Amino acid sequence: MRIILLGPPGSGKGTQGERIQRKYGFQKISTGDLLRESVRSGTPLGKKAEAGMNKGRLVSDDIVIGIIKERIFRSDCRKGHVLDGFPRNISQAKELEKMDAGCDEIVIDIYLSDQLIMERLGKRRVCSECGSIYNLSVDALRIEGKCDVCRGEVIQRDDDKLETIKERLRVYHIQTKPLIDYYKNKKVYHVINGERKIDTVFSEICSILDKKIGEARKTEVAL
Ligand code: AMP
Repeated sequence: MRIILLGPPGSGKGTQGERIQRKYGFQKISTGDLLRESVRSGTPLGKKAEAGMNKGRLVSDDIVIGIIKERIFRSDCRKGHVLDGFPRNISQAKELEKMDAGCDEIVIDIYLSDQLIMERLGKRRVCSECGSIYNLSVDALRIEGKCDVCRGEVIQRDDDKLETIKERLRVYHIQTKPLIDYYKNKKVYHVINGERKIDTVFSEICSILDKKIGEARKTEVAL
């Protein structure tokens, strides 16, 4: 099964994707995390992607499609995978269908107002070592500037700075939002209100997934 988490930057796709992975065993794949890793390690791919990422633009379809093609067929994805940040435009969605045709698909869109996104992303900090995510308005770090999990340095992502957030939102509205109608037409689209607590959002995601998994089992039995 393929679970696609849609939603603007800062809507909590990464956090919810991790929880889905823990509860259901579907592998979470974040193109943003994979790209940042390539930038950190200075690979040719990372060098190509870096400038666009720092400006809040999308990196080229070729790059991200290549990453996904290589990742979703690994053995840890056999049970299923959760995509966080992919697809981000219609042509990526079509490529995804082509490369993994026939895979059962469900789309969960985590909705959030632009105003709240600006507030959340401005306060978001990440661990430079293990990627743990913190929000300055709710998380008090045990040691200032250090990750509670691994003691790595907690930093603000370059693309979480105000001007870049504005650009990421602009790009989201123009390029990614058309996916809502695309997936509505495919009858795989679900939307949930992401302005509530993490636990509340997660339990709503679980209801949607449990229903979908139950239906998939019934179909298997019938066949
Ligand atoms: P994220 O962590 O998902 O917000 O992604 C961070 C940045 O990586 C984005 O602002 C883009 O520059 C790039 N990126 C991540 N996923 C994609 C994608 N599917 N298509 C193009 N660029 C992407």
